[in-house]
Amino acid sequence: MTYKIAIIGLGKIAMDQHIPAITKNKKFKLVAGVSRNASLKDVPHFTSLSELLASKIKLDCLAICTPPSVRLQMAIEALKAGLDVLIEKPPTPTMGELFAMQAFARKQKRVLYATWHSRMNAAVEEARVRLKGKRVTQLKITWREDVRHWHPGQEWIWQAGGFGVFDPGINALSILTRIMPQELFVQSAVLETPANKATPIAAQIKFKHGDGLASDMSADFDWRQTGEQTWKIEMTTQDGMKLNLLKGGTVLEINGKTILEAPMEEYELIYKHFAKLLKDRKSDVDAAPLQLVCDCFMLGQPKLVAEFL
Ligand code: NAP
Repeated sequence: MTYKIAIIGLGKIAMDQHIPAITKNKKFKLVAGVSRNASLKDVPHFTSLSELLASKIKLDCLAICTPPSVRLQMAIEALKAGLDVLIEKPPTPTMGELFAMQAFARKQKRVLYATWHSRMNAAVEEARVRLKGKRVTQLKITWREDVRHWHPGQEWIWQAGGFGVFDPGINALSILTRIMPQELFVQSAVLETPANKATPIAAQIKFKHGDGLASDMSADFDWRQTGEQTWKIEMTTQDGMKLNLLKGGTVLEINGKTILEAPMEEYELIYKHFAKLLKDRKSDVDAAPLQLVCDCFMLGQPKLVAEFL
């Protein structure tokens, strides 16, 4: 079976990752693009989802690659039209919207896949297996990157609901919530927000265990790092294992030894998983990373920093 797919929001991630991954995967055929300003060569183009749905183009599913704040309405329109839906991360700006989308997909008996691309790396799965049954006592996440490189000219990331530095930070949290052997919670957060923006450019977070186990667990997110980018998760367990996930979750080190290093194929694996979900008629929606981000905003202490131009 080949699934006919359309992409909504032909921006950076659609062009860099979704289109190449769909083109490589024989189970999908890209049949349309929807975007107000961009279009694709040799693929029918529409400026709105309604326009696409009103056309005679046959379609099975949709990949929504717009900013999170405009996805709920699009997903509802698509699910109502009988399409299965894949969405980019972060899924929605609030938990309420994600639960509403999930409930609507269930009601329509359609597949909803809320992707977490950083989770797709083999080293992440191996880390999850190695941590099973252990207690984490130390955790240090360092997720520092250059916003100008990854989000050139994008305004939505700085508007309320645009996530700011939590747009990349949620990638680390998506790995964390996948591999942690116990649930963890936000204890406190400092949200460094430029005087001319609505969302943070950096954040320092402290986590806690629910049962009070003594621990030292924190995350440092920063969007002002130029040069080499840092995407690192370091953990120590109660029985003394030191586990590091490096380079965005592609390299796993245990007790100083590299255990696994795999090439980055996150989007190839996303579409492989989507094809399986479509075949099995199953949804895949995990709200845990978004919950932690929402909790950071709920408990966060604002800190005004210099304007970012
Ligand atoms: P982007 O370059 O701004 O692309 C998003 C596209 O969505 C825009 O080009 C725009 O196309 C369309 N859109 C529809 N409604 C919009 C609205 N109300 N405001 C702004 N754009 C609207 O963003 P992106 O970097 O591709 O990110 C999209 C999603 O992918 C985000 O959730 C992000 O976290 C995720 N992601 C991004 C990266 C990355 O490296 N940038 C990596 C992984 C995941 P038209 O103007 O043509 O309609």
